[in-house]
Amino acid sequence: MAKQRIERLFMLAEQTFSEHPERSNRYVQLARRIGMRHNVRIPREFKRRMCKHCYSYLVPGTSARVRLRKRYVTVTCLTCNKQMRYPYP
Ligand SMILES: [Zn+2]
Repeated sequence: MAKQRIERLFMLAEQTFSEHPERSNRYVQLARRIGMRHNVRIPREFKRRMCKHCYSYLVPGTSARVRLRKRYVTVTCLTCNKQMRYPYP
């Protein structure tokens, strides 16, 4: 149940981002809160779409800059300018 709500919120965040990016950020924060309350982890594909520092919704090229390195991907959040690193599959 909680997982479905989280998925829905991320879908809404994606749909609304082009018109209301601030709304997308709210959806992400809601999803995170639901996850914490119900002890449900945010699925990995969604985790990478949110900034782990300021919890903004990340869209490569718009609210985030993505750089490929040899063994990892660097994502820079353009809201707080902090970086996240993910291993490259
Ligand atoms: Zn950020």
